[in-house]
Amino acid sequence: MDISLQDQLRRRREEILFRMDTALSKSGRTLADVELIAVSKTVDVEYVQAAIAAGYRAFGENRPQELARKIDGLEQMRAAGAGIPDVRFDMIGNLQTNKINAVLGRADLIHSISSLHLAEAVASRASRRIEDGLLDAAQPVLLEVNVSGEETKSGFSVDEVRQAIPHLQTLYGIRVCGLMTMAPRGDKKMARATFAGLRELRDELSVEYPDLSLDELSCGMSEDFEIALEEGSTIVRLGRVVFDPAFAVE
Ligand SMILES: *Cc1c(COP(=O)(O)O)cnc(C)c1O
Repeated sequence: MDISLQDQLRRRREEILFRMDTALSKSGRTLADVELIAVSKTVDVEYVQAAIAAGYRAFGENRPQELARKIDGLEQMRAAGAGIPDVRFDMIGNLQTNKINAVLGRADLIHSISSLHLAEAVASRASRRIEDGLLDAAQPVLLEVNVSGEETKSGFSVDEVRQAIPHLQTLYGIRVCGLMTMAPRGDKKMARATFAGLRELRDELSVEYPDLSLDELSCGMSEDFEIALEEGSTIVRLGRVVFDPAFAVE
C-alpha cells in the first residue's frame, strides 16, 4: 500500500476531525454523536484501502455500479490476505429504479430517497427480498429534501415530505431514519438556513409522528460541514476535503 498516501489521508483526517469537534462543541455535542462519511466517488479502491488504513470506516458512493465495484474490490483484497476491517458503504446519489437491486442490502443507508415513487419502488423490492430470505430487515433510508427550493435540485419539497409520511410509515420494506439535504453552493448564509430548515422539519415531524424516529440529519459537505454540524447534522458527507490534496483546508 502507498504509505505516503495513507499518511496524507491520516493528517487530513485529523484536521477534519479537529474542525468537526470544534463545530460540535458549539451545540454541546462530540464526535461520538456524528458519522463522517468519506465520499469516495472520485477515487479508486486503492484510495479507499488507504483511507481505511488512515482511520475511515464509512464511505459514500453516488452510483450503484461504483458502490458495488468498491465493495467487491475490498472483498478481493481481503480474500488475497489484506487485513482490512469491515467498513460501511452508503448510497448518497440519485438512484434509478432499475438499479435498486444493486444497492439493497449492500448500502447500509440510502440517503437519496427523493420521491414517493422511489420510496415505493425500494420498499417493494426490499419486501420481496425479505420474503425470499435475501435481506434480513427493512432497508434503512433517508428522505432527500430540497429545502432550499432550487429548481436544479432533486428531492421532496418540504410540503411533499409532510404529506408523504403517513404513507411511508405503511411501507414495510424501508425504515425511514431521517432526512438529507444539500445546500446551495458558495453561500454560507443560505447553507445555514437550509440546514436549519432541515432540522426544523425533522423536529416538526417528530412531534406529529412520535412513532417515527427521524434521528439522522445527513447534511454538510466539504465546503459547509462545520455550519451543518452547528445546525444539528448527524452525518456529514465529505469528498474533496478528504481525498483532494489541493482542496484548501481553511
Ligand atoms: C459528491 C457528493 C458529496 C461530497 O461533496 P464534496 O463537496 O466533495 O465534499 C456529498 N454528497 C453528495 C450527494 C455528493 O454527490
